[in-house]
Amino acid sequence: MGWRRILAVCLGAAVSAVVATAQRGGGRGPSTVYVLKPARVFDGDVMHEGWAVRVRGDRIEAAGPATGIDPTGAQVVDLPQTTLMPGMVEGHSHILLHSYSETSWNDQVEHEGLALRVARAVNHLRAELMSGFTTIRDLGTEGAGYADVELKQAVNQGIIPGPRLLCATRAIVATGAYGPKGFAQEWTVPQGAEEASGMDMIRVVRDQIGHGADWVKLYADYRFGPLPGSHPTFTQEEMKFAVDAAHSAGVPVAVHSSTAEGMRRAVLAGVDTIEHGNDGTPEVFKLMAEHNVALCPTLAAGGMSDRKRASFQAALAAGVTILSGSDVGTFPHGDNGHELELMVDCGMPAVDALKAATSVAGRVLKMEIGQVKPGMYADLIAVDGDPTKEIAAVRRVKFVMKAGTVYKSPGAQPANSQ
Ligand SMILES: [Zn+2]
Repeated sequence: MGWRRILAVCLGAAVSAVVATAQRGGGRGPSTVYVLKPARVFDGDVMHEGWAVRVRGDRIEAAGPATGIDPTGAQVVDLPQTTLMPGMVEGHSHILLHSYSETSWNDQVEHEGLALRVARAVNHLRAELMSGFTTIRDLGTEGAGYADVELKQAVNQGIIPGPRLLCATRAIVATGAYGPKGFAQEWTVPQGAEEASGMDMIRVVRDQIGHGADWVKLYADYRFGPLPGSHPTFTQEEMKFAVDAAHSAGVPVAVHSSTAEGMRRAVLAGVDTIEHGNDGTPEVFKLMAEHNVALCPTLAAGGMSDRKRASFQAALAAGVTILSGSDVGTFPHGDNGHELELMVDCGMPAVDALKAATSVAGRVLKMEIGQVKPGMYADLIAVDGDPTKEIAAVRRVKFVMKAGTVYKSPGAQPANSQ
C-alpha cells in the first residue's frame, strides 16, 4: 500500500471517528465550540463574578472575564442568574441499588435479577448526570457481578447517558462477614460481595482488576460475630496484601470502615480513602490526615445521628481531606446533592463542601476534572443561584455538559438526554 493510499485510509478513519463520536454525543458533537455565559463562575476553588468559559472539543479552552472570551465561531449559551461550576463528583455511589425505602438490601440482592437491576441502573445513571454529577465512583455492585463495568462501556460508547464511571466491581469482604445472612446452614447463599481471606486477597484483587475494576473496595469491618454492632474483619496484614496488589497495578483502594480500629488498620495498610468513618475518633482522624487518607463521609446514608455528626466534625477538626460521597443508591439517585447540604449543616463552610465535590474530588481521584481552567475536561454545570451563599442551589441544575457534550440546557433538550 502506497503512502497516499495509507494517508487516505487514515484520514477516512479519522473523519468516520469524528462523525461517530458526534452521533454518539447526540445532536451537537464534542467538536463544537461553546462560549458559556453565566452570572458567575465557581472554578472549583474561588468564585468569579462576570466570567465566561470557552469549550473546544471535550476540553475547557479558556476561562476568565466575559469581555476577554472570544465568541467568534462559537455557539454562545446564555445562562443568566446561574453559577457555572465544575460537574460535581459523587465519591460513593451504588448504581445497581435502588432506595431501601422501596426494597430492602436483602430483597434486592436475593430476588432482583441481573437484567432487572441493570434496567434500573440505566435510569439511575441518567438521574445522576441530570442532577449535575458528571463523575461517580461506584463502590460495589452488591451482588450484580461486573455489571458496573459494562454499564460504563455503555456510557462511554454513547448508548446511554451517564456520568464518568469509576468501577469497583464486586467489592471484597472477609469470609463469613457479609450478607445476605440468616439462612438454614445447608444452603449456600450468593453474597453481596466477593469473599476473601489471607493471601487469597491478592488473587481476588487481581481478578477484579482483570474484570475492569478502577478502584478496589474492601470492607474493614462489618456487623459480624456474636457481639452487636460492627467489628473489624480483615487484619492489617490482609489489607496490606490487597493494597500492594492493587497499587502495583495502579489501582487505588477504598475501604468501608465505621470502627476506629478498622480505620486504623486500613490507614496503616496504606489505603487511599475511608468510607463512612461513623465511629472515628480524633486520634484516628489525626492518623488519616498524617497519612493523607481521604474520608468519604456518606452523611446522607441511613439518616444522621449525633455520633455521625460528631465524627464528621472531628474529621474536619483534624484536617482530614474530605471527598464528597453520599452512598446514593441506599436513597434515591439524583438526590446526591443532599450530601453537600448535610456537610454544611454539620458546620463545613459551603465553599469547602463545593470543593469536596469538585477540585478536591478531582485531586483525590487523580482525574482531570473538578476545576474550571484551560485543559481540564469540559464537565460543567450551571445551577440557579450562588451555592457558596445557599448550598441548596446545587439541587437546581439548569445546564449539564460532560466532555463538551450538552445533556441539559435551559433551552432545548438534546434527544439523547431523555
Ligand atoms: Zn456504600
